[in-house]
Amino acid sequence: MKTYKVFVDNEWKNGRTGEFIPSYNPCNQEIWAQIPLLSKEEISETVEVAHDAFRTWKETNGLERARLLNRLADLIEENVEHLARIESSDNGKVLSETRNQVLFTARNYRYFAGYADKLMGNLIPLDNQELLDYTTLEPIGVVAIITAWNSPLPLLANKLAPALATGNTVVIKPSEYASASTLEFAHLIEEAGFPRGVVNVVTGNGATGDALVRHRLVGKVSFTGGTNTARVISKAVSDNLIPISLELGGKSPNIIFEDADLEKAVVGAIAGIFGAAGQTCIAGSRLLVQRSVLEVVKDELVAITNSIKLGDPFEESTQMGPVANKNQFDKILSMINEAKQEGAELLCGGSALENDNLKGYFIKPTIFYTEDPKITIACEEIFGPVLTILPFDHVDHAIELANDSIYGLAAGIWTRDLQKAHKTAKQLEVGNVWVNTYRTSQVGTPFGGMKQSGFGRERSWHTLHEYTQTKNVMINLSDDKRNPFMMQI
Ligand code: NAD
Repeated sequence: MKTYKVFVDNEWKNGRTGEFIPSYNPCNQEIWAQIPLLSKEEISETVEVAHDAFRTWKETNGLERARLLNRLADLIEENVEHLARIESSDNGKVLSETRNQVLFTARNYRYFAGYADKLMGNLIPLDNQELLDYTTLEPIGVVAIITAWNSPLPLLANKLAPALATGNTVVIKPSEYASASTLEFAHLIEEAGFPRGVVNVVTGNGATGDALVRHRLVGKVSFTGGTNTARVISKAVSDNLIPISLELGGKSPNIIFEDADLEKAVVGAIAGIFGAAGQTCIAGSRLLVQRSVLEVVKDELVAITNSIKLGDPFEESTQMGPVANKNQFDKILSMINEAKQEGAELLCGGSALENDNLKGYFIKPTIFYTEDPKITIACEEIFGPVLTILPFDHVDHAIELANDSIYGLAAGIWTRDLQKAHKTAKQLEVGNVWVNTYRTSQVGTPFGGMKQSGFGRERSWHTLHEYTQTKNVMINLSDDKRNPFMMQI
């Protein structure tokens, strides 16, 4: 079993409490690592370290920040296998997924390296020609980064890459369920040569995160996790009046119109919900199917779902691993039982996997059918391999069902009709729409939610504004005497 240290001020330190959080391998339920549980004082000291480092890091020129980010991306690419295996050990995702995610992570750092020396303000033409006016983009300070367990490294990159490119320093707290890959990643931060205190990784639970976000020297909080935690954090930071970005959950509709290429649409629906065992914020967990093609879609979906190979995430032939931890396992099974009680029709799956060779938290890929969009399974995020199919009759009905949710993270549209695709995309109350694809990620596109799926954007140039504040500089070029009692325009 590996016992980890935390990374603070470019040094590897033991936690002073002497307490640890166990990391379980969800595939066999064995503890494979121990993560330090830090005290509130240690969190406070770390924020102070990051605050001191900000003074010099913000003055470091963009070319040097770009060089370090590119070096980091190189190192990630050299360590794909290692990082992917750690991530899979922690959250049970299949290796093909975690490998791709680590590569995506490297691409994200490279993308923002390209912006580090191109953070331009504007020269603003004014009515008054005797004034010269320009803006600059200034870093905020110490960013507290808090991430979820389902994809620790990609979620971190979405925040860390733009935060560093724009000159902020950071304190990262990964999820207590999956901290190991972030700590391993910190070795690459060290090797890349980032200055002391610019990137710090602390570990612990919700109380640790609370101590971090409340610290008076934190200038911004960037959070990925559940909607309920986001509410608590929003209240906690309100005293300090600091900006916050929230990447939260979803109940994303994947809409299949009758004119779609049904073969592709069904594969897209599978990718949307059973990829990563449904443990993605963008899971297409509500499948809206036009009634005229309902039966054929159901049959195809069930046939493919019943053939999904569950198993050890480290075996290349495995298509779906276990869910990440016991809490998730219990919660998903309880929601499956609730769906049965609420009268949803079970089309396949619907229970834990019983297999003497697989002792982990395996849940069979599950599909329910219901005509009632108000039952729990059709409304609440499950974060597991459970799909709910709902029928619709026409375009407006599909849009009404899709938007009937507190969430607004993502949606899929399957149609051959471009006009229908555009019009539907425009009316969906979500931050990300895919047409004839699903769960396809590119670092150049903005990602984030509407409604209770959060606010702020990640990836893409839009994110630069999440980690900077605009400063306006106005210079008076005139020699005229002014009347001090009149506003000058
Ligand atoms: P969670 O909200 O339980 O925990 C997330 C993080 O918050 C953890 O690091 C946890 O320790 C920390 N935390 C808990 N209480 C805190 C507090 N009071 N103050 C500060 N930090 C606190 O979420 P989870 O179970 O780890 O992740 C699953 C959720 O994350 C799902 O809802 C999923 O949809 C969402 N998610 C969203 C995105 C996205 O980009 N929109 C991506 C991945 C996951």
